[in-house]
Amino acid sequence: MMNDSNNLCPICGEGHLQPQVGQNTVKYKDQTVALEFRFSLCDVCGSEQSNAEQLRANKRAMMAFKKRVDGLLTGKEVRALRERLGLSQAKAARIFGGGPVAFSKYESDDVAQSEAMDKLLRLADKLPAAFVLLTRQAGFEDRVLGGDWEEAVEWSSEVELRSGDGRPRLRLVSSSTPMDVDEPPWGNAA
Ligand SMILES: [Zn+2]
Repeated sequence: MMNDSNNLCPICGEGHLQPQVGQNTVKYKDQTVALEFRFSLCDVCGSEQSNAEQLRANKRAMMAFKKRVDGLLTGKEVRALRERLGLSQAKAARIFGGGPVAFSKYESDDVAQSEAMDKLLRLADKLPAAFVLLTRQAGFEDRVLGGDWEEAVEWSSEVELRSGDGRPRLRLVSSSTPMDVDEPPWGNAA
């Protein structure tokens, strides 16, 4: 076990470990990139090693790179999107699913969100009507979310949900006209 308090080298027992930031060239699918790589270097025997914190940072950098290559939102982008929607991580999980710590893991690049989750997030970000529907399904009132509807970008959309037998169940027709949060333009969903 490495002792972080005095950073004594566990290999030679004499030197001290100095934190370093290097670069590692990594390849994923058809893309190659130089990623920051964190490790510690012993000032006596020259051995290199990474502690738990450095390993975690290296893993996260690699995960963020993989997400970019796979066309998924990176952790930073998920966080920015969630904040645009005015959601805490806990509310976001209730609305989009994934479990209580899902967004903390997506945003720190510990885990990649599924392709389906990625698409759902982008949809909610681009289409306010979809976001409103999801938040209502999760049992939130619009005003609780703190979304700024007045400043929503211009949009126009038509959403139709069908029940199991294929008959239209709910139809949302929306435009960029700012909506009254107490009286949604489509009226009662029932
Ligand atoms: Zn050493």
